[in-house]
Parts: sequence; C-alpha cells; structure tokens
Amino acid sequence: MDSYVNKKTALRSLFGINIFLLAVHTCLLIFFGLAHIRLMAWVNVGSVLFYVISILLLRYEKITFYVFATFIEIMAHMFLAVVSVGWDFGFQLYFIGYLAAVFYADYFSVRLGNHHISGIGFSAVSGLLYLASMLVTRFAGCIYETSDSLAFAAMIANSAVIFAFITIFFSMLTHIALYYEEVLAKKATHDELTGMVNRHYLMDDLERIYSGGDMSSYWLAILDIDNFKSINDKYGHLCGDFVLKSIAEMIKGVCGSRTVCRWGGEEFVIVGSDDGEDEKGHRADSYILEEIRRNIAVKDFVYDDKTTINLTVTIGMARYRDGQTVDDWISLADKRLYHGKHSGKNQVVETGDGE
Ligand code: GH3
Ligand code: MG
Ligand code: MG
Repeated sequence: MDSYVNKKTALRSLFGINIFLLAVHTCLLIFFGLAHIRLMAWVNVGSVLFYVISILLLRYEKITFYVFATFIEIMAHMFLAVVSVGWDFGFQLYFIGYLAAVFYADYFSVRLGNHHISGIGFSAVSGLLYLASMLVTRFAGCIYETSDSLAFAAMIANSAVIFAFITIFFSMLTHIALYYEEVLAKKATHDELTGMVNRHYLMDDLERIYSGGDMSSYWLAILDIDNFKSINDKYGHLCGDFVLKSIAEMIKGVCGSRTVCRWGGEEFVIVGSDDGEDEKGHRADSYILEEIRRNIAVKDFVYDDKTTINLTVTIGMARYRDGQTVDDWISLADKRLYHGKHSGKNQVVETGDGE
C-alpha cells in the first residue's frame, strides 16, 4: 500500500524538483547577466548557491524545512523579478505554477503524518504576492528598462517552464490517485489470504447475473472443509492457513473462469452455468464439483516439508429455480451442505431439502 507515499519517494521527488530549480536558476543567472539586469543576476547567484546547499538539506532529510525554504526563495525571487523587469516577462506565472508542487508536498505531508505543510496557506501567500507585484508594477513601474523582444523571449521560456512543471505534478498526482484507487478496490473485493473474491464481490456478481435475465442454467455451490478446526488444533493456525490457500488454489485451478469466492472461514462458494458444452463434451457444468471433492480427498497436503495432511470437503449445490431470491438460493445450497455434513461428509449433495 505504501509503495508510493513514503519518505523515500518524497525525498526522490524533492531531489528531482531541486535539480529542476537549480537548472532554471542557472539559466536565469545567465539570462539576467547577459541582459545587464544586475540586481536579478546577483539574486540568482544566491539562488544557485541555495539550491546547491539544498542538496545537503535533502541528504539530511530536512523535508519540511526544505519545502518552506524553497517556497520563500521562489516567492522572493519572483517578486523581485516582476518588480525589476515588469509583468511582460511572465515571472508572475511562477506564483501560480509553483502551487502544483506545494499541493503535492501538502499531500505527502498529510500521508506521512506530519501535517506541517498547508497547501492553502502557501496558496494564500502566493496569491497575495501575485497581487502585490501586479499593483507595484502597475502604479510604480519597474526598476529596469528593457526591450519588448527580450520580454517576449522571457515570456515564452517562463510559460514553457510553468507548463512543464504543472504537467509533471498533476500527472504524478493522477498516477498516485489511480494507483491507490486500484489498491483499495482490490482490498474491498478480494480476500487477502487466498486472493479469491470475497462475499461482497460475489453478492454484486449475483446481482449482475440476476439482472441478465435467464437464470435457468445457473447453479451455486457451498463448499466447506470437513473437520477443519482439528487441523488448526493439531498443527496450528499457520498450518490451517496453508491448507486454506492450497485448497483455494486447487478450486481455482478446476473452476477456471467461473466465479469462486471465499465465503468466510473455511467455506467457499462457486457459481457456474450449464449453458453449452465444455471441451470434454460435458453439458452439466456442475460435474466439476465432484472433481474438486475427489481431487482434495486423494491429495496429500504437505506442510513445511514434514507434515502430511489429508482432508475432505462437503459440498451443497442448488440449481437456480424460477422466483428464487439470492437468499433463498444460497440457503437451499446451505441446507444441502448441512445434510451432507450429517450424513457422512466428503460428498456433493445436489438434491433434497425442498426439491
Ligand atoms: P465441519 O466438518 O462440521 O465443517 O467442522 P469444522 O471443524 O470444519 O467446522 P467449525 O465451524 O467447527 O470450524 C471451522 C474452523 O475454521 C474454526 C476456525 O478457527 C477456522 N478458521 C476460520 N477461518 C480461518 C482462517 O482464516 N485461518 C485458519 N487457520 N483457520 C480458520
Ligand atoms: Mg464451516
Ligand atoms: Mg468445516
């Protein structure tokens, strides 16, 4: 679950941002130097040094300090850049674009449990500086006189940097959101021990089958391991888990694409349909239940290379009958399972109890 949101990933993305910002400020240092905008050239000497030193901050894992320091550097740098050369160079775009990184950091800080980085707080400061730089240049003008073509070139470069920045952060956030959605959906519908779908998923699947119309060919079976408690008692819970996993594998192997669910504890539910014929010419699909019962009864389950366990299962099966609700259908299979348990176990019961 934590393969994305951990300290290591946070440090790795910050390291990437740091290199990116170091490159941007080096370019700006050259740009302002060549354009004889001395104030900003010196500011960028400081910025480049700051991002070199920041590599150490990240080495020592000072994440929160790094995020705050970087934010202050960007805000101060961009404010000075706008009041130095004016609005037409596009340095104000960084006040907006950098918010993508700030909210990414906010997300990580919440997920890593320190809650020190507030995206909304940073956003408010950024918004105020955006407004302030706009007002200063509007009413007081800017410090340096520059040419239109220089401003145009800077606007293009700054826009490209901001587009790249926003695109990278939003695609990372989208990727993380989709990844966790998938993980959570799997957790909600699958059993951890056996990897089979769970009761919740099966009930949804039955709803789907019901809404599909003709149900006459469907059957449903409940399989329960015989005397399973004695395995736990005799060999321990871990051995019980091993047996459950092995039986689940075996059932899945025989059932192929049919729905097989871990109903709970040592009980499994299988849903199949008698439609058509299989490759062996079988019409009544439920013959697989006898195959499962037989395979389990003859198998030696070897735990830890030294304990050989033999066991059996009892299965209650019910074909769908017109008008049955899901509960009626499951309950009929369960009654037959109960009947099998009280008449010697190790069998498949397909009739009786109301038929
Ligand atoms: P019967 O033949 O009548 O079905 O007897 P049984 O012993 O199989 O049935 P019972 O209901 O008495 O016991 C079921 C046992 O399954 C009890 C419970 O501890 C065990 N069990 C349920 N879930 C798990 C699990 O995930 N792992 C392990 N190891 N045991 C489990
Ligand atoms: Mg049981
Ligand atoms: Mg049992």
